Amino acid sequence: MARVQVSGRQVEIADAATVLDAVLAAGGDVPTLCHDERLTPRGSCRVCLVRADHSVVAACTTPVREGMIIDPDDAQARSAARGALELIVSELPPRALDIPAQRSELVRVCERLDVRGGEFSGAVHERGIDDSHPYLTLDRDLCIACGRCVAMCAEVQGTFALELSGRGFDTVVAAGNGGPWVESPCVSCGGCVDSCPTGALFESRCADREYTATTTTTCGYCGVGCSLDVHTDPAGIVSVTPTHGAPVNRGHACVKGRFAHGFVSSGDRLTRPLIRSAGRGSPLREATWAEALALTARELTRIHDAHGGTAIGMICSARATNEENYLAQKFARTVLGTNNIDNCSRLCHAPTAAGLTASFGYAGGTNSLDDIDRADCILVAGANPTEAHPVVGSRIVHRVTAGATLIVIDPRRTELAEMADVHLRGTPGSNVAVFNGLARVVLDEGYSDRAYLQTRTSGLTELLELLRDYTPDRVAAIAGIPAESLTEAARLFGRAERPVIMYGLGITEHAHGTDGVRTLANLALLRGAVGTPGCCGVLPLRGQNNVQGASDMGALPDVLPGYQKVTDHAVRQQFSDAWGAEVPPRPGLRIPAMFGAALDGDLRALYVIGEDIVTSDPDANHVRAALAACDFVVSQDVFLSRTAELADVVLPAAAFLEKDGTFVNFERRFQRVRPALAPPGEVRTDFAILHALAAAMGADLGCPTPAEAMAECAYLAPAFGGISHRRLDATGPLQWPCPSSHHPGTPVLYLDGFATPDGRAQLAARPYLPPGERPDTEYPFVLVTGRRLMHYNTGSMTRRTANTDLLSAETLDLAPSDAAALGIAAGDRVEIRSRRGRMTLAARPTDEVAPGQVFTAFHFPQAPTNELTSSRTDEVTDCPEYKVTAVALRPVPR
Ligand code: SF4
Repeated sequence: MARVQVSGRQVEIADAATVLDAVLAAGGDVPTLCHDERLTPRGSCRVCLVRADHSVVAACTTPVREGMIIDPDDAQARSAARGALELIVSELPPRALDIPAQRSELVRVCERLDVRGGEFSGAVHERGIDDSHPYLTLDRDLCIACGRCVAMCAEVQGTFALELSGRGFDTVVAAGNGGPWVESPCVSCGGCVDSCPTGALFESRCADREYTATTTTTCGYCGVGCSLDVHTDPAGIVSVTPTHGAPVNRGHACVKGRFAHGFVSSGDRLTRPLIRSAGRGSPLREATWAEALALTARELTRIHDAHGGTAIGMICSARATNEENYLAQKFARTVLGTNNIDNCSRLCHAPTAAGLTASFGYAGGTNSLDDIDRADCILVAGANPTEAHPVVGSRIVHRVTAGATLIVIDPRRTELAEMADVHLRGTPGSNVAVFNGLARVVLDEGYSDRAYLQTRTSGLTELLELLRDYTPDRVAAIAGIPAESLTEAARLFGRAERPVIMYGLGITEHAHGTDGVRTLANLALLRGAVGTPGCCGVLPLRGQNNVQGASDMGALPDVLPGYQKVTDHAVRQQFSDAWGAEVPPRPGLRIPAMFGAALDGDLRALYVIGEDIVTSDPDANHVRAALAACDFVVSQDVFLSRTAELADVVLPAAAFLEKDGTFVNFERRFQRVRPALAPPGEVRTDFAILHALAAAMGADLGCPTPAEAMAECAYLAPAFGGISHRRLDATGPLQWPCPSSHHPGTPVLYLDGFATPDGRAQLAARPYLPPGERPDTEYPFVLVTGRRLMHYNTGSMTRRTANTDLLSAETLDLAPSDAAALGIAAGDRVEIRSRRGRMTLAARPTDEVAPGQVFTAFHFPQAPTNELTSSRTDEVTDCPEYKVTAVALRPVPR
């Protein structure tokens, strides 16, 4: 630490700090233009000049020295800074100073230094505007070539799409190729707009609006959980910016969180309840809440009384808050009298919960995102973070650029695969073989941590026995990868001191997804990379914003909040006593089993909150048949989804920007969700709807506010005992386990032992088993499904924003060699047919996809991909095998 004096005040500060850091630490301020705390200091604008000892220096780049005396208000320095600013302003058109101060650091700095322009006169820029992008506009004449946007794109986003082109006076930012911005490699994260100090880069849709309020909340798209500042005026959202200093995203966001908020004001919003007053077959018509609630209460009560609570199923939402999920499972268990409650983690990360619990003890990632900043080797398996979890993708790119090795295990050549040291491109469904092969090489070549294995794990003998069969040559034959690449990857992983494993749905959405998670967890254990000081652990990249929280809250058929088993009498008794109603003793049905029970006549009613199961669940015909078989279906959603169209009652629900509560992100981090807007029309939050429905059924769910629901959950679930809205508001996010109000939360799990019955991590000896569905002569290709950067899940939100200008339609991605063999050119229509359905898409030949495979997403109604996918599921958790569907291709005649 260094001791310095700022304006006569003593300050102690890190040796590596700058003069600017010291001034800020002393409570002072220095005007800056080229500085951004997220970026490497540049010192180019000279506006931050101060006196340090006997010199006038740029505060942002000058390091402190022991005993340094700093005067930020020195007259000579201030005069020099003013002169530098006058010169900058002299090159700009007068409108540069007409921009509202709220949107221009330049204007604010000019006000502070009393610069009004006109001190110097000379040539001003006349370079024109680029308004090709739907969200961003570049006014080149306002660019001062400070380079902040270029640095944001390179250092934070990791895309390197921007550059300063031209020389001297003509230097200006340009996007990649210098052509229209929208045609550049820009990924539309908006970092350049956030950082631009002059308004040269600005958000097109809010250029002439000033906000009057700012609400900090958590992104409602993916499971990264970025903190966002939502700026509003009385007419609605003006703009959204990433929260600076937020622990997860550190002032960064992606195109979805940053820009894709227009759906909240879409004319398609459901604003009143809909019912079929003349029963099935009659059209949906608008109704009052009283009518809709009375009908729903009457039908659920009738079915409950006639067939019992087990005849009713409830599918809860990974999009809803924790408090809403808590209330929903309480409603199911105490009002409907059933444990038939599940959430969409069943379709994505149920194998993570099962696998990580079996291996380590808890159903969550072991570490924090920040730990990858220390990792020297990053293994990314079955995930495409630069598209599906973009802020995490950027952090990985940043770390790899700084020198960490990267291993990617994925059938597709993703952006990260392009920059990987080793890309293992195994066939879909071969994960377990690949992980066993890597484990074998790690053990054979002496890279395992023997002491750790002996003292902290169980099952090594059985694993060693199993791995005899997993030579690199055998694994190469199973997975279709070079044996040398497998060995090289194992060596990179084995030699690393601080490896981290990150994985996604490419591991879990398989017939043996839980085995995939467990054999991947083995690799971390072999290296002692879990539960040790400085370790980086295993991080599952959760799909939806609150898929972790929905499960944490007990929206699952076999566990109550905090993963406490419903079969445990003592646990059940505690909940029954607290809730004043008996919790049913037998585990309920999982989502796929609910569909089966409906078709068997055992499930008569289905209540679906915030899920479009017809679009997102596999084998859509099977789902539709199950809905048709039910006597009564309720859909509670923001828009009239394909599922809602089939429902008997549709209840209009609020979007995340209209809600109060919390989400839990992929690091087990509880974060606040705050309403930036009031819901439109008669829309209610899921929380309010559940309360109203319970009341209509003669019940009182208690906990009238989200804060009280969180408090009740914390009382009943030891892992969340120290979490409350008040504490989150006062001190910021907390990672569970957090058992008491004095507990600081747990960024790294298992430092004091694993949460398994014997306190040891469990190595898993799991053999490779082939996928549930394999290509054959009739269906010779394997369809892999996934996500695109610009859209999200079923697309119900992003398709109602200008993201459709950036990606307007789905494509079928296939290998160029396959396209050529079938006579298919780019843009040609191709019919894709599986054993369950067919659809037609435009072809996109690309070597991102391996020969014999095809790839698409399911963001667009025109691409009903889940008409094709199979209802085969993981043998442990019933998670569908989305990643392996045998299909046939046929060019559609032009
Ligand atoms: Fe939202 Fe995920 Fe994008 Fe962050 S990375 S802004 S959480 S969609």
